[in-house]
Formats: sequence, C-alpha cells, structure tokens
Amino acid sequence: MPKVHNFGAGPAKLPEEVYDIIRQELTDFDGTGISLLETSHRSSTYLKFNKEVQNVVRRLMKVPDNYKILFMAGGGQGQFAAVPMNLISRTGTADYLVTGAWSAKAAKEAKKYGKVNLVLPETNRYIVVPHESEWKLDPNASYVHICFNETIHGVEFDFVPDTKGVPLVADMSSNFFSRVVDVSKFGVIYGGAQKNIGTSGVALVIVREDLLNHALPICPSILDWTVTAKNDSILNTPPMFAIYIMGKVLEWIERQGGLEEMAKNALIKSSKIYKLIDESEGFYHAPVHRICRSKMNIPFRIGSHNGDEALEKEFLKGAEALGLIQLKGHRDVGGIRASTYNAVTMEEVDILVDYMKNFQMKHQAK
Ligand SMILES: *Cc1c(COP(=O)(O)O)cnc(C)c1O
Repeated sequence: MPKVHNFGAGPAKLPEEVYDIIRQELTDFDGTGISLLETSHRSSTYLKFNKEVQNVVRRLMKVPDNYKILFMAGGGQGQFAAVPMNLISRTGTADYLVTGAWSAKAAKEAKKYGKVNLVLPETNRYIVVPHESEWKLDPNASYVHICFNETIHGVEFDFVPDTKGVPLVADMSSNFFSRVVDVSKFGVIYGGAQKNIGTSGVALVIVREDLLNHALPICPSILDWTVTAKNDSILNTPPMFAIYIMGKVLEWIERQGGLEEMAKNALIKSSKIYKLIDESEGFYHAPVHRICRSKMNIPFRIGSHNGDEALEKEFLKGAEALGLIQLKGHRDVGGIRASTYNAVTMEEVDILVDYMKNFQMKHQAK
C-alpha cells in the first residue's frame, strides 16, 4: 500500500508528531505510571492539564481576560442547541445567516427554543456569503449566528460582520486555529475539535462573560455555559481523551509558529489547488465565489459544472491507488472535496495537485 495522504473533511488528519506524543504518553500520563484513560478527572494531574489546555487556547487566539474557555461534550452540534438555550432568553429571537448545510442545521435546531430570523434570502445553492447590503438583521435579536466556514459547501467568511452591537456567535468547527481572528469582535466562538484541532466528542467554547447567566430554565446543566464555567469544565466526567488530544494539537500549532503560520500555509495550500482549477479551462469547476472560497475545504466538480459522475469516480479510484484518500465530496453536493486542514502538509498538497494535472492531461487528450 502506498503512503496514505488523508484529505478527509473530518474526523481529519492529525499531525504525525502528535501521534508520536500520544503513543509515548498513552500508558504513562505525565509521569503518573497510569494512562490518562484511567485517571480521575478530579486528580491534580488532570486539573493541571485542564488548565494548560485553556492557557494554550488563550495564548494562540489572544483571548481577552473577559472571556471564558470551556470544554463541552456533545461536539459541534451539541452547541447548536446550547447556543439558543444559553442566549435566546434575552429577546426570544435570534438572527441566523444560512450560508451552507451547517448553518442551516444550526438554525433548524434553534427554532426549538425561540424565534429564528433568517437574515439571508433562502436558497439551496450555497456558493457565496451575500453582500452585507442584502442582509436583513433584526436589531432586537438576542444574537447573530454565523458559520465561519461551511465544511460541506466550502464557503468561508473572509471578514467579521458588523452586527451593530448584537452579540456575534460563530461556529468555527472547520476553520478553528487556521487563521488569526480578533476574538473581541465575537460574543461566542465554538466548534467541534475533530476537523482542525483534535478528535470528536469535545467542543471548544469561548464565551464573553457578560453573556453568561441567561440560560433558559430547561437548559441541561451539561449544556449550560454558566454552570460549565463555574465548574471549570469539570461538572461531570469530561471527554478527557478528546481534550487531551486537542491540547497536544494546539501545542503543536504553537511550536509551528501559531496562527500566523497556519494562515500562511492555508493560503498557499488552498491557492495551489484553486489555481490549478482556474487554469484547467473548465475541466475542473469550483462553484464558490472567489472571495468566499474556503481555505480549508475545497469542493469541485470534474468535466463540467454539474460534474461528470463517471469521470469523478475514476478520479477517486486513481487517487486512492496513489494513497490520496477521503476525497469524495459530501453526498449533498457530490463531486470531490479536498480538505487542507492544518495537519495536511505542503508536500501532500503538491502530490494531489500533480495528480489532478496528470488526470486532466490524460482525459482531455481523449
Ligand atoms: C462537523 C461540523 C459540525 C458538527 O460537529 P459534530 O461534532 O459532529 O457535532 C458543526 N459545524 C461545522 C461547521 C462542522 O464542520
């Protein structure tokens, strides 16, 4: 079998260095002689680690002092419920920008807990973040929710919207720690870890302190940000191993040079693929508008803008033979999707780009 290059959208590739560390520490956590997997979440070693992971989040994202950093079970979608349950009580209504499948899901979940105002015209073809002049924001909304990067459709915000004082809530599941963001412009940032910063089961939540203490009475304690903050994310047994892996990935990001370095690499890696697509004379087709093109998830079709499914199948088969795996597009959009998360190396992207070039040459000549 050739060496594998994993372009999957999530759970996604982890840095090789992190695997080396996990392997070494798996049966002896922090010199205790036992694995973290059998360590009490109330032990001093875990309490220390819990703090260390919060600290590395704070350093990397330059999180201001008036924000809490929480680790919560239930992944990204757990927060689709937690967001309205913790925030919607102020006015009973919330604004949602739906720019792809994930924000659509978040809006649907929020409807269980209050009134949802859809800020953008409804569509099922997600290829752009519409211009701000087209947005219908409700000044009375408790918060404005966006998905900063749509993992399935490949639509990414290249700016932070101005919500005129209404707290901005962003799902960063798939572009967390891939670029520099000014945390002070957000009320809440959250995301599941398994795309860019770890493995499934844990959500990282960064919440401004003045937004605490508004949870609906029905909110389960484990989804309540205020209760979680009071208990330093150890209300019940947290997903410790997922938090551990997240900590190790974040330390790796720090050793690489932090978010500036991640952003620089993400731009180069994604540009290599988009450039090839743009110069392919229509053989490859990327549907998303240029300024909203994701630097993390690159969906494209082959043969035409609707995709030639037989050709796409052949592309995937040939890719797998070379060890380029998990490139199949999401079933909602079809085609191909290459995810270029932090752990995907420049060399791996070069191998993919070479393959795409060769595939085009072979099939256009016919
Ligand atoms: C994957 C993903 C989610 C869902 O995460 P789960 O941990 O599986 O619940 C939510 N939002 C975005 C943007 C995602 O990419």
